[in-house]
Amino acid sequence: MPAPKRRHSRARSRKRRTHYKIKLSGYAVCSNCGAPIRPHTVCPHCGYYNGKPVLVVKTKEG
Ligand SMILES: [Zn+2]
Repeated sequence: MPAPKRRHSRARSRKRRTHYKIKLSGYAVCSNCGAPIRPHTVCPHCGYYNGKPVLVVKTKEG
């Protein structure tokens, strides 16, 4: 097995690792308010599910 002759510089390693990204998976967009939500879940921002209001979302104003 050939061994690497020189270690890579930090910049070189980091340049390669710019492609290592966490994939944003398992999310949908609310049809009412457009917020990112988990699929098959009532939107926690506006309380809508499948285009209908299902929950009354509590707000800080009361
Ligand atoms: Zn919403």
